[in-house]
Amino acid sequence: MIKIVNLNKYFKDKHVLKNINLEIEEGEVVGLIGPSGSGKSTLIRCINYLEEPTSGEIYINGENIANSGKNIDKIRQKIGMVFQHFHLFPHKTVLENIILAPVLTKKLTKEEAEEKALKLLETMDLFDKKDVYPNSLSGGQKQRIAIARSLAMDPEIMLFDEVTSALDPEMVGEVLNVMKDLAKTGMTMIVVTHEMAFAKQVADKVIFMADGEIVEENDALELFENPQNPRTREFLSKVL
Ligand code: ADP
Ligand code: MG
Repeated sequence: MIKIVNLNKYFKDKHVLKNINLEIEEGEVVGLIGPSGSGKSTLIRCINYLEEPTSGEIYINGENIANSGKNIDKIRQKIGMVFQHFHLFPHKTVLENIILAPVLTKKLTKEEAEEKALKLLETMDLFDKKDVYPNSLSGGQKQRIAIARSLAMDPEIMLFDEVTSALDPEMVGEVLNVMKDLAKTGMTMIVVTHEMAFAKQVADKVIFMADGEIVEENDALELFENPQNPRTREFLSKVL
């Protein structure tokens, strides 16, 4: 579903992604870990073309997104992304936040979008928050709404960039649980995270990045219990 070939990214003369090669199957959950500044965010931002690769190819369902031209918007609609900070629209209610994009892109009528949004809110136990403004929500609730908003577009791939890093510790669990449930539905997911227990439990495959490179990639249990590269071992010894 995702294939990355010899991807390089420079910011001016700074080489931040170094010849990345990666394949992700449909339904796979990939954990992306590594020290701050190693290129994790840049990598997943390249996948929905929020960053333009300097060289290399990124195929989504066989289509090279760099050459997709006008189709880039269509490809982007298939890829949901959730960030550390929620980016909810403060002057719109929860329901309005969720239906905005599906209606704007004319994928759904307002009624259809609302019906779908309410179902999503129900699965996340947030139905009773549908008419409130984001300000009155906790961080964990906001992040779950941000995930619901993304899912309302029916993405085929979900990218998560440290979505629990800005949350108070007691709210991390409720967001991870939503992601766990989503993984069980067969969603293809790339999850940048510092939550090692989550990565170990939920990811099929874990990638360790350092200094712009994929240092090690393995089955999640293998990578955590039997890391092969000294840099992976050093990183894990600090965070576990
Ligand atoms: P991570 O998500 O692993 O912390 P990033 O992908 O955010 O790493 O950053 C990788 C490197 O690229 C860092 O050195 C960072 O400072 C640099 N970088 C990221 N975005 C930009 C940008 N827009 N302009 C210049 N440098 C950037
Ligand atoms: Mg980052």
